[in-house]
Amino acid sequence: MANYYQPEIETASREQIIEIQNKKLVKQVKHAYENVKYYRDLMNKKGVKPEDIKTIEDIKKLPFLSKDDLRETYPYGMLAVDLKDCVRIQSTSGTTGKRVVAFYTQHDIDLWEECCARAIVAVGGTKEDVCHVSYGYGLFTGGPGLNGGSHKVGCLTLPMSSGNTDRQIQFMLDLGSTILCCTPSYAAYLGEALAEKGYKPEDNKLKAGIFGAEPWTEMRRSIEKSLGIKAYDIYGLTETSGPGVSFECEEQSGMHINEDHFYAEIIDPETGEVLPEGEKGELVFTSLDKEAFPLIRYRTRDICVLSRKKCSCGRTHVKMSKPMGRSDDMLIIRGVNVFPSQIENVLLSAGYTPNYQIFVDRVNNTDTLDVYVELTPEQMQESDDEKAAREKLLVGAMRSMLGIGAKMHLVAPHTIARSEGKAVRVVDNRKLHD
Ligand code: ADP
Ligand code: ZN
Repeated sequence: MANYYQPEIETASREQIIEIQNKKLVKQVKHAYENVKYYRDLMNKKGVKPEDIKTIEDIKKLPFLSKDDLRETYPYGMLAVDLKDCVRIQSTSGTTGKRVVAFYTQHDIDLWEECCARAIVAVGGTKEDVCHVSYGYGLFTGGPGLNGGSHKVGCLTLPMSSGNTDRQIQFMLDLGSTILCCTPSYAAYLGEALAEKGYKPEDNKLKAGIFGAEPWTEMRRSIEKSLGIKAYDIYGLTETSGPGVSFECEEQSGMHINEDHFYAEIIDPETGEVLPEGEKGELVFTSLDKEAFPLIRYRTRDICVLSRKKCSCGRTHVKMSKPMGRSDDMLIIRGVNVFPSQIENVLLSAGYTPNYQIFVDRVNNTDTLDVYVELTPEQMQESDDEKAAREKLLVGAMRSMLGIGAKMHLVAPHTIARSEGKAVRVVDNRKLHD
């Protein structure tokens, strides 16, 4: 029977980690150079040979990889082993364009599931738990990743996948789910659906939730309240294997990166310059021991900060802040940079529901920004004057956060479509006029 505990590597000293990273990087670069022509050409173009890479510090000599490289080499161009040695593919959600396909050997699957198992252990998971996985199964990495991690920990795994909310609730209550894994937007929806059926937070046995795959901000507290749990963040991307590259511990203040498998850098997205620790920039990952799909200096386009501040959980691995949005999520509205997460922050801090949608358009050559947000049933009861006052307050708060005006629309509960996977928060209709 599986009985998985936090591995020692998570509390290893900085020196031990660096030693492991040094060794693994040398091997990983050699592996990619020898087996991936596209990568070899990139290295040659930059005039760097595998022999030039002796320690992790030498990583700066290597070229970056981007999503465009992966699209260009689709489907097999980045494969570093024989196809017959691969056992699985997964694919991105295609949030920002053509999907990317990633390949896995059995070793790669084990490595990924190990990372997810660490995430489950970090939220208190043991073989006593019932782990309810409502991430989508299939090409999307969420379901398979947490499913594998849950098996490793020895939890009773409920492979629910997304959708069919009535069945989710029935199994959750009948089988006593204790850990819920899904996107934060679906967790919020499940909380809402439970309340609508007359269940109180104490009617379920859930104690923790592992929520990721999309940005979420102050939503944490409302999910915790509605489900009666502690909500933890988990991060990853298909290209690096899937969720579990980093995860939150009990401190809930940033996600520990599995540094023995992934090396993180923060760069200036404009210049590519590596920024000192603590500065905000684009997150770049290097896989250290992947076989089928090694990724060296991969630009995630996620904007965040790294921190080595001592963590009370005892883990020594570096922490990344919650991504503040992707550099390509950023909207430029009337010349001003706007991140959807800033809008979410304003709405949730002002006590609104996490059910909102942002519409951007262009009228008479001017960009327009319309934000729709649902009122709670209690807010809905207020008088028209009270609602008008709310709207005025929100317009002011948006202007001070974003630096530009937004038209606010306070709408009735259930007006905005719910999402079972990654939520569609932004509809940018400007492209239609180009
Ligand atoms: P796609 O790029 O098509 O969405 P993935 O499904 O692989 O493909 O998604 C990976 C991306 O999801 C990350 O690069 C990041 O932008 C986002 N993401 C994943 N986890 C989180 C998280 N916990 N917080 C914010 N964003 C996240
Ligand atoms: Zn910690």
